Amino acid sequence: MTMSSMDAQTNTVGSSRAERKEREKEKIIQREKQRHTVKTISQILQKSVGEQTQEERTLLQDHQETVQELSRRQSRRRLLQSKLEEVFDEAESLQGKVRQLAEALQRAEHVVVYTGAGISTAASIPDYRGPNGVWTQLQKGRSVSTSDLSRAEPTLTHMCIWLLHKEKMVQHVVSQNCDGLHLRSGLPRHALSELHGNMFIEVCSSCCPARELIRVFDVTERTALHRHGTGRRCPHCGGELRDTIVHFGERGTLEQPLNWSGAAQAAQRADLILCLGSSLKVLKKYSCLWCMNRPANKRPKLYIVNLQWTPKDNLATLKIHGKCDAVMGLLMEELGLEVPVYDRSQDPIFSLAAALGPQEQESHSREEIAPPAALEEDSQAAPDPGPGPALQGGWFGRGYSKARRKKKTL
Ligand SMILES: [Zn+2]
Repeated sequence: MTMSSMDAQTNTVGSSRAERKEREKEKIIQREKQRHTVKTISQILQKSVGEQTQEERTLLQDHQETVQELSRRQSRRRLLQSKLEEVFDEAESLQGKVRQLAEALQRAEHVVVYTGAGISTAASIPDYRGPNGVWTQLQKGRSVSTSDLSRAEPTLTHMCIWLLHKEKMVQHVVSQNCDGLHLRSGLPRHALSELHGNMFIEVCSSCCPARELIRVFDVTERTALHRHGTGRRCPHCGGELRDTIVHFGERGTLEQPLNWSGAAQAAQRADLILCLGSSLKVLKKYSCLWCMNRPANKRPKLYIVNLQWTPKDNLATLKIHGKCDAVMGLLMEELGLEVPVYDRSQDPIFSLAAALGPQEQESHSREEIAPPAALEEDSQAAPDPGPGPALQGGWFGRGYSKARRKKKTL
C-alpha cells in the first residue's frame, strides 16, 4: 500500500467515524422520542374515552400503528396471564368429564399415564409451575423452603394408579417426578419410567451392567447440575456412586430408573394417554411420547387432568380442570373400585433398600424414611417436629435456579 492511499484511507475512516457518531446520536434521539410517544399513548389508553381530551384523541389518531401494537401487546399479556391461572370445573361438569374418562379407560386396550408434580402436591412436595410452585417462587426471586421430603408418602393419586395397573387398566406410568412415590406405592419397576430420576437411587456405572443401590434417604444432598457423585462408593468395585437425577439441560442416559425404552414402547402401543398434574412443558419436547409422526386420527387419545393450561390442551380429547386426588377419587367411584390406602408396611422401598456399610453411616445428613415399626414407636414417643429446615441443593433448588438465570439472560 502506498503512502498516499493510506492517507486517503485514514481520511475516509476519520470522516465516516464522525458521520457514524452523528447517525448514532440521531438514532438515540429518535428512539427516545419514540419511547416517550409510546409511554404517553399507553397512558392515554388507560383512560376511558370520556376522560380523554381532544388533544389526546388527536394524538391517538396520529399514531394508529403504535395504538395497535400496544393493544396487541396487552392481549398477549392477558393470554399469558390466563395460561397461568388455575381453573376448576364445576362439580357437575367435573362428574360428567370423569364419567367420560372412566368409559374411555374401560374401552382402551393400552393405557399410559404421564405424571408430573401436580400429583405429589398433596404429599406436601411443592409443584413447579403452579402459583406456589418451586419454579414460580424462584421466578419471583423468592426462596423456597419445604418440609423434609423423606416424610412424604404416596398420595391418593399414586395409590389409584397403582391399583389401576394391578387391575390391568393401566399398562405403563411415565413420571417426571424424582420423589420416588410411584415406586413406593408398589408399582413394579418394569411398568415405570422415572424420566428425571429417583432421589432414593444411586448407581455405580463402573459396574456392568450399571449397579443400582436403593436407599431410604435422599441421596442427592451433595449433587447438582453436572455433578452427580453422592460421595459414597460401590460396595462391589469401589467405583464412585452417582445419583440418577436429570437436571435441566442434561440428557438422561441411565437405563434405570429412567427406562426410556419402556416409555417409548408404551407410547407406541398406547391407545389412550392420561396426563395427570403435569404442565407438559417439558414432556411435550420428548417427541417419542406423543406419536406425532402419525396422522392425528391414528394417535392415542389424550386425556389431561391439570388446573392450568398445557401446550397439549388443543390436542386433547378431554381436558379436566380438577385436582388430581379429587379426579382420581371420582374415577374410582365410576369404575366401582375402592380407593386403596397407602400402607407403610407394604412400602417396597424397605425391602429394596441396600443398607449402608459401617463406614458409611455418617455419609449423609438427610432424614431416613422411618420403617413401619419405628414409626409406631415414634408416634408414641416424640411429638411431630414440624416442617424441616429449608433444603439447599439436591434434586430441586440448583437445577431450577440455573433455569431462572438462563431465562434472565435471554
Ligand atoms: Zn461398581
